Amino acid sequence: MSEQYICIGCGVKIQTENKEQIGYAPKSSLDKEEIVCQRCFRLKHYNEVQDVNLTDDDFLKILNELGKRDALIVKIVDIFDFNGSWLPGLHRFVGDNPILLIGNKVDLLPHSVKPNKLINWMKQEAKELGLKPKDVFLVSAEKGHFIKEVTEAIDSYREGKDVYVVGCTNVGKSTFINRILKEVTGEGDVITTSHFPGTTLDIIEIPLADGKFLVDTPGIINHHQMAHYIDKRDLKVITPKKEIKPKIYQLNEGQTLFFGGLARFDYISGGRSSFVCHVSNQIQIHRTKLEKASDLYERHKGEMLTPPRKEQIDSFPPLIKHEFTIKEGKTDIVFSGLGWITVNDPGVKVAVYVPKGVYAMLRKSLI
Ligand code: GDP
Repeated sequence: MSEQYICIGCGVKIQTENKEQIGYAPKSSLDKEEIVCQRCFRLKHYNEVQDVNLTDDDFLKILNELGKRDALIVKIVDIFDFNGSWLPGLHRFVGDNPILLIGNKVDLLPHSVKPNKLINWMKQEAKELGLKPKDVFLVSAEKGHFIKEVTEAIDSYREGKDVYVVGCTNVGKSTFINRILKEVTGEGDVITTSHFPGTTLDIIEIPLADGKFLVDTPGIINHHQMAHYIDKRDLKVITPKKEIKPKIYQLNEGQTLFFGGLARFDYISGGRSSFVCHVSNQIQIHRTKLEKASDLYERHKGEMLTPPRKEQIDSFPPLIKHEFTIKEGKTDIVFSGLGWITVNDPGVKVAVYVPKGVYAMLRKSLI
């Protein structure tokens, strides 16, 4: 593109290459007299927000800005990727602003999981990560579960202030905002955009009843998210679409499970024991002997062990080993972005492998 076009909606520089990035407009729209980016187009015509991604630098600018404003911060995380979708450092920037922590995608939890245990774990984990939310909620933005409750909580905690919604990409922030939009605006072209100072990033302002705003900030890319390492087409494989069905494996020592080619679980010692896998129903689980596992992975990654896809193998991060000894029965081994395995028996020794940069950790079982 030789000529530089500017969106008449938000003033961002128009680009036609990358749909996910800010300022995208289809090539065909460049012939028009008034050019708008796709994000403004959707906002104007459908009252619908669309997420754009953010560089780390812009992220810091936005965090800085959040600290200066007197507002309620609503932080959204994906309960299947709690640590991967965490915004590190948020607590250092928000100052005295109150925070609500919202775990999205609760519709995917199997019935055996106790929501209260998950909320307690989220509270604990948030505290360890330095964040002290006023309250923690679980919602399903997609299904609308608990949206009314959260909207009410937002309204009560904001105490007449603006509300800033923050979250990593893929946590369901757009879906959440679009839900809230329906609750608070109804019909009409009432949404506006404005800028964060010092960035080219427009934020979306949804007016609230008292003249204040609910503000949608751009989605932040967190490099610890499993989602960034796989092909977009495979996102639907790792992201559960329906309530997940736990799969039980009775394993002997020296057996290995592969979750596609994304993660590996070695049962090292502890006698015959059962392991309950909570991952997307779409992920293929392969059982094999530990002694053959490394060789199998080298020969079949990108084919039988997929995702990742064959053409991605070269750029896919190596799997890194983490060893755990389970001290208490009923412990979850969490593979961030993928799900978790519940171990029933104490004294079990295991090794898990996840792509470099992705988290693996233990927590008390949610069941
Ligand atoms: P954003 O990048 O944070 O704005 O995320 P999106 O709103 O685009 O959602 C990311 C993915 O998560 C999409 O595939 C959504 O369909 C899915 N999603 C969002 N909210 C929910 C939810 O409550 N439950 C389920 N099962 N999926 C959800």
